[in-house]
Amino acid sequence: MLTSVKDRVVLVTGGSKGIGKGIASIFAAQGAKVMIAARGEQAAIDACEEIKASGGEASYCLGDVSDWADVHKMVSDTVSTYGQIDILCANAGIFPQSKIVDMDPEDWDNVIDTNLKSSFLCVKACIPHFEKAGKGRVILTSSITGPVTGFPGWTHYGASKAGQLGFLKTAAMELSRYGTTINAVMPGNIATEGLDGLGEDYLATMAASIPLKRLGDVADIGNAALFFASDEAGYITGQTLVVDGGQVLPESLEALAEI
Ligand code: NAP
Repeated sequence: MLTSVKDRVVLVTGGSKGIGKGIASIFAAQGAKVMIAARGEQAAIDACEEIKASGGEASYCLGDVSDWADVHKMVSDTVSTYGQIDILCANAGIFPQSKIVDMDPEDWDNVIDTNLKSSFLCVKACIPHFEKAGKGRVILTSSITGPVTGFPGWTHYGASKAGQLGFLKTAAMELSRYGTTINAVMPGNIATEGLDGLGEDYLATMAASIPLKRLGDVADIGNAALFFASDEAGYITGQTLVVDGGQVLPESLEALAEI
């Protein structure tokens, strides 16, 4: 049994949908006060309503994680609403598919800014609060795609997700002086709204390529994030946890067929 995160304040970027909503729900179910950040208001309202209907505490703020002024406001909104910020789940991200040959430089910048620059901006905005408290937790949502695997159409995405892990190593050293840990969850294929657009065939092929024979659930990632936020994980920093149902394990199609 992990020590409770009850009454701790967690900012979840991209908390209005998918994995972020799963993280927000898991933390709220444990009694944490959740601030959801996203660009679209209706989904953020709906996510808060869902959490409140289950007896949890949630608010939302709007903004773009690739914009410094917006990120600064997300963090100050969290502190003005709940009085503090204990945990940052820097989760918001996008995964448009485009092969190098077709990709515009602007497409590259958009993915890198949204997925990677945002990690830097969100951590930077939280530092004064972690410094004041002498403690803090950061959990990044990276991916297996980039750091471990590749998939045509996702060079920019893979670079952003591997980049987050490069950021993580040195950030862990810099944040240690504020009593703050930073770790990353590396999801495999998780069933979310964001994956819906990839089509039934993609989802079926993906499930077949996973040893546990199913896509992950958002709660699978929420629980991993909860572990990194727990007191019991207080001596773990700069580390990663792959949560993928064994997807990266098979050496070949033959190995998969042997299961
Ligand atoms: P999703 O269902 O599309 O949700 C993405 C969330 O991020 C939404 O709340 C979205 O809200 C928000 N968001 C996107 N761009 C934003 C921006 N510029 N500023 C603020 N918020 C923004 O995606 P998901 O599948 O849950 O993915 C979440 C994270 O998990 C991403 O970092 C992704 O790379 C990572 N991941 C996902 C999978 C997977 O299989 N699903 C696997 C590995 C890693 P708005 O659009 O309203 O802003």
